[in-house]
Amino acid sequence: MQFHNPHTGEHFDAVYFSNGRYRNDALSEFYRIARDWRQDAEVKIDTRTINVVYKIQTLLEKEGPFQLVSGYRTPQTNHLVHGAKHSFHMRGEALDIAHPEVSTRLLHKVALHVRGGGVGYYPREHFVHVDCGPVRSWTA
Ligand SMILES: [Zn+2]
Repeated sequence: MQFHNPHTGEHFDAVYFSNGRYRNDALSEFYRIARDWRQDAEVKIDTRTINVVYKIQTLLEKEGPFQLVSGYRTPQTNHLVHGAKHSFHMRGEALDIAHPEVSTRLLHKVALHVRGGGVGYYPREHFVHVDCGPVRSWTA
């Protein structure tokens, strides 16, 4: 799977799951690119959330990288960006994503279809939030 972090310019291009197991080297690389870049703090990102993005990618049939708009957030950063009080981003369980070849509207539709957890639609900011919490959805 491929990701690009627009804030840091970093790229991720690795297979994080193969032969029935997670690849720790690839996951470590992903945790790094999904870190809170403002505080340079990283945590493990829940593989259930990464799997949601993987399913979205499969349904979209797009190979190119997702834009990783937001991954892990420290409480300080979450406060700064006006995140929800108990944001799943602070637990490494949420990712905000966009895709340069797909409209936010379509990305949102596909994310809802996966039913992997929470889905937030941010049409003005051009991204979709996914997490591995209870299945629910909202529009910002
Ligand atoms: Zn989010």
